[in-house]
Amino acid sequence: MVISQESEVYKSIIELGKYIGNTPLYQIQHLSPKPSVKIYAKMEWMQFGGSVKTRPAYNIIKSALESGELGEGKTLLDASSGNTGLAYATICARLGIPVTICLPENASWERKKLLKGLGVNIVYTSKFGSSDESEAKALEMYNANPGKYFLANQYNNENNWKAHYYGTGPEIYEELGDGITHFMTGLGTTGSFTGITKYLKERSPEIKTIGLQPDGALHGLEGWKDMETAKIPGIYDKSLVDEIRHIDTYDAYDLLKETAKKEGILLSPSSAANLKGAIDLANEIKEGVIVTLFPDNAEKYSEIIKSLF
Ligand code: PMP
Repeated sequence: MVISQESEVYKSIIELGKYIGNTPLYQIQHLSPKPSVKIYAKMEWMQFGGSVKTRPAYNIIKSALESGELGEGKTLLDASSGNTGLAYATICARLGIPVTICLPENASWERKKLLKGLGVNIVYTSKFGSSDESEAKALEMYNANPGKYFLANQYNNENNWKAHYYGTGPEIYEELGDGITHFMTGLGTTGSFTGITKYLKERSPEIKTIGLQPDGALHGLEGWKDMETAKIPGIYDKSLVDEIRHIDTYDAYDLLKETAKKEGILLSPSSAANLKGAIDLANEIKEGVIVTLFPDNAEKYSEIIKSLF
């Protein structure tokens, strides 16, 4: 059943939109290797829900309420090892929508506790499970009971990348315009990369785009491991990728420490990896404007903080 636009749930999600997006674009100061290359990163933790994933989660939920897929009495179901689950959970807690998340059992304790605290029903997949396995579990649960669930399906849902195409991309372009020479970010569901690069390339076809991936050396580390999905997501659009680069996890961790000391910001592993990619590129080119994302900050990664500082 379609949710009426007069309903409290619908009014509530529209209201929530005020707290999503419009994040600051931070210019790297001391770690920028040369003045002729500027590096900017969008601080995505500075919005409701605390990560880049609030944007797609919001768009997926809002669109499903409008289409009726997430009708009254339905439970939102998806696989997530981290931020997307938290984003669904924060939004749905406010709207009064039940959430079930399929999660590998080896996810960090912070994630499990935070999801529980937000009222999520967690279904664990095997101990060393991958995101593919959780995705398969969510699909199996949906197929067994399609009337009960709305399967949010972040890896294949167009409303994931569209959140960035209509939000993050225009926000970046509005601030920096045609001056942008490069955009790069890590590939998870690829929603942020796809939505942002599609928008930026339509505006400025000369922009070079680089997808970043972990080198796999430290398999299983929180945050960065979210991007080690074996399967290519349904929303991935290869035509938007000019280059793929791999980032050494140890290098990203060294940079995480340095960024805290020199820039005064505490990055998460994937944010540090994005910055590593941007600094490497800045060393290679003569001049330009490089843009990347800081998907979240260090707060949810206490084991990493313990080991690094
Ligand atoms: N960094 C972090 C911390 C994330 O949670 C995610 C999404 N799982 C990403 C990067 C990758 O973003 P996307 O899914 O848009 O590719």
